[in-house]
Amino acid sequence: MSKKGLLIVISGPSGAGKGTICKELLNRNKNIKLSISATTRPPRKGEVDGENYFFTKKEEFEEMIKNDTLLEYAKVYDNYYGTPEEYVIKNLENGSNVLLEIDIVGALKVKAKYEEAILIFILPPSLEELKNRIVGRGTESEEDIKKRYGSALDEIEQAIKYDYAVINYDVKRATDDIEAIIRAEGCKMMRMDKIIKKIF
Ligand code: 5GP
Repeated sequence: MSKKGLLIVISGPSGAGKGTICKELLNRNKNIKLSISATTRPPRKGEVDGENYFFTKKEEFEEMIKNDTLLEYAKVYDNYYGTPEEYVIKNLENGSNVLLEIDIVGALKVKAKYEEAILIFILPPSLEELKNRIVGRGTESEEDIKKRYGSALDEIEQAIKYDYAVINYDVKRATDDIEAIIRAEGCKMMRMDKIIKKIF
């Protein structure tokens, strides 16, 4: 008997390193499928439609909202971002674990709709380190750095609403922590009871 997959939701402030951790997690675990979001933000250099995002016109996005085909959506930095529901449900039913890398508003909407979702918040090891990482990207103006740093502090206050917090001391250790969470969640009694009844 196959088990339903786990819905893993990862969020964290800009500069916490969640993108790198998600990449490492996906490299290590072929049974985790990344959900590709739809967005109205224009592609950045090097981004590919259908790989990084489904780049969508505002009218198309609003049509998806109207037709209720999104598991959740949110407006982040003046653009819409949303998770197409069908891909997520299909893979969970097939027993694959599904990873969403989305903002806090979206993550809390997912939890309200799908209680079993596992919410993991990635934190930087210190505020000093967070600032260094935001500055270290070298792409943002002084004003942008201040804005990102300010909103990172606001976001960290929301971490308390998540199921787990993982501190990114280094990518390997943070990914190990997430794997440990996934493994323990898979053994929870509510996920195992049908299998146990069948065997015993
Ligand atoms: P970026 O534009 O830098 O790729 O993403 C900006 C923010 O939007 C990030 O915090 C990212 O996690 C979030 N995001 C990406 N996809 C989704 C989505 O489908 N739903 C929600 N709610 N947030 C998303």
